[in-house]
Amino acid sequence: MGDQRKKSAKAFKKAEKVIPGGVNSPARAFSAVEMDPIFIEKGEGAYLYDIDGNQYLDYVNSWGPMILGYNPPQVIKKLKEQLKKGTSFGAPTEIETEIAELIVDFYPAVDKVRMVNSGTEATMSAIRLARGYTGRDKIIKLEGCYHGHGDSLLVDAGSGAATLGIKGSPGVTENTAKETIVVPYNNQQAVEKVFTEYGSEIAGIILEPVTGNMGVIGPEPGYIDFLRKITRKNGALLIFDEVMTGFRLARGGAQELYKIEPDLSTFGKIIGGGMPVGAYAGRREIMDYVAPVGPVYQAGTLSGNPMAMQAGLATLKELKNKKIYTQLEAKAEKLEKGFKKNIEELEFPAYFNRVGSMFTLFFTAKKVKNYQDVKSCDQKLFAAYFRNMIEAGIYLPPSQFEANFISLALSEENLDQTIAANYQVLKKLKA
Ligand code: PLP
Repeated sequence: MGDQRKKSAKAFKKAEKVIPGGVNSPARAFSAVEMDPIFIEKGEGAYLYDIDGNQYLDYVNSWGPMILGYNPPQVIKKLKEQLKKGTSFGAPTEIETEIAELIVDFYPAVDKVRMVNSGTEATMSAIRLARGYTGRDKIIKLEGCYHGHGDSLLVDAGSGAATLGIKGSPGVTENTAKETIVVPYNNQQAVEKVFTEYGSEIAGIILEPVTGNMGVIGPEPGYIDFLRKITRKNGALLIFDEVMTGFRLARGGAQELYKIEPDLSTFGKIIGGGMPVGAYAGRREIMDYVAPVGPVYQAGTLSGNPMAMQAGLATLKELKNKKIYTQLEAKAEKLEKGFKKNIEELEFPAYFNRVGSMFTLFFTAKKVKNYQDVKSCDQKLFAAYFRNMIEAGIYLPPSQFEANFISLALSEENLDQTIAANYQVLKKLKA
């Protein structure tokens, strides 16, 4: 194994000397799967190509944004046009209003949108706004949910932090951490208890309505509805972090799927069409609490950057077509059926979970409904699965604590190939 990735191995050694861990985001490290990361040359449709010339069917989608596949012509065309006009002005452009209008159109709970440069910035700003608007300090966060690396939210987070076993992080002060109250996902009593104790101090609850950062877990029936009611009753804000789920699970995100209107929503990934973008959004009276109209300060030199806005706008315009979600669902359903059949036939101890075009194959025989369940998965077995899938030309997130994504570019043939690889690899691991 690895001989066909000599250039990647060399590139990694070089990178490690000048970049911490050789990667610019810990989720890209392959330490949990005991491999060197694969260095990418290019993407095309459903495929990634590494610098050694190997081809992979991709289920990472740049961690979510590439819902249309790599290099969709409509997006590339707009980027080329914008390139000729200029890459940044630090002054308003009409594209910013156009993309905000589209988001407002698709999300009934949203009247106004503020663009930022990443999902982290979006959630950090939303939390600041929730605190400023309510005049309260405490935030409830759900265990295993990841909302970027802002200090307040880096407590019991999923994704790279979970993969590396990092509970909080040195550098986050105790005072900051103590304003974040962490409760298990899908557990109503735990939330009730916190409100009983701290009710008038809670600014809001932030959650991934469907989690991706501890693997894909959906809310139990009634859970989201319960969160809506208890926040409203206590004058706290309900914040949906839809950085991953927005425009992914449905055009209107998880809030469309579960028919719940949060007070604030955060976006990222897909709304940037592969460029660095984030946004936070919500009801007019809350969003008007942001500077320059309101007292809560938040700003950005490159916010609403025209290149990023063009890529995002072109992507969202494609997603106006609701048929895309039916197509994604059909692809995802096919994969689910195939994987589940393999698991059953081989009597393999694995649990497949999917919501829309996000899925995770958990290496445990029992149902997974929260972070504790995920932590009990066999990570060694996952690592072996990952390495064998790479050998079969299938690129997956290099961690059990992540979502896999299905893009529109995946063909029936691609899905068949993936299902067949899954069968062969599980069979080998069983032996
Ligand atoms: N929120 C969620 C739900 C995410 O999945 C992520 C990133 O994976 C973030 C926030 C942070 O976004 P970014 O990595 O763009 O800062």
